[in-house]
Amino acid sequence: MNEAVEAGVLYVVATPIGNRADISQRALAVLGGVDLIAAEDTRHSGRLLQHYHIERQILALHEHNERQRAAEVVTRLQQGQSVALISDAGTPLISDPGYHLVRLAREAGIKVVPVPGPNAMIAALSAAGLPSDRFIFEGFLPSKSAARQKRLQALADEPRTLIFYEAPHRLLETLGDMVAVFGAQRHVVLARELSKTFETIKGAPAGELLAWVGGDPDQQKGEMVLLVKGREATDSEEVSAEARRILKILLDELPLSQASALAAKITGSKKKPLYQLGLTLGSGNP
Ligand code: SAM
Repeated sequence: MNEAVEAGVLYVVATPIGNRADISQRALAVLGGVDLIAAEDTRHSGRLLQHYHIERQILALHEHNERQRAAEVVTRLQQGQSVALISDAGTPLISDPGYHLVRLAREAGIKVVPVPGPNAMIAALSAAGLPSDRFIFEGFLPSKSAARQKRLQALADEPRTLIFYEAPHRLLETLGDMVAVFGAQRHVVLARELSKTFETIKGAPAGELLAWVGGDPDQQKGEMVLLVKGREATDSEEVSAEARRILKILLDELPLSQASALAAKITGSKKKPLYQLGLTLGSGNP
């Protein structure tokens, strides 16, 4: 054990998603100091730890044995051992194993400490140029097209930026479904091979992106995140209920251009969306 590690604590440690230099000093200190490292794939993580000259006992904890292993790990934590949880890449629990262990540990009153670091979704969002103040992470979409389209349909009106993980062999199909459900004009960003040699971040209307990816097999390889701009409110949706009410009254008396100008003045709204709304309300005299 070293200064970075306390007895009986579970550390959830993020590891690189491609570039080994992205590991934090603290992650190295924790991994080097714990009694046990629970890893998704012991061989994969063994190579990573060897690279940093860390020799610690490693235990496999993956999606097929997590429930049973979680109980064993909690027992060891209760006996005072310190444990680090890592996954193959990035932050554990984020489309990776670890949820059952963390839940069980917390239920048992064990201190759980995150050691933050790389995560593909956040890295992609930070460089995508899409609104980042509000976003939702949807993980992997269903692998079958009908179920995938259904999920996308449920998200079609979502105004926040949408983030998905995707496997390379499904990229074309998924982009095709996005064009079908969101429309060819919806802005989509493909963030591929982040922090690796062939890192590519390409944003375009969905239809164009599909054609671009379809025309270049190299863009269909590697690890990837898809980000979709949330649905933008149409002009008529931007009109408040009060402005709409006033516009309706004015339209009974005035031509559309005057009614919308006056409604804009009274309510402090923009004239254009009021004018457009007026068109849909069926003014007799535009
Ligand atoms: N826990 C990881 C994290 O924190 O991002 C995610 C693990 S999930 C099993 C793997 C998926 O993450 C990949 O299929 C891909 O969608 C995304 N991913 C991981 N590394 C990536 C990278 N270097 N570039 C782009 N996407 C990546």
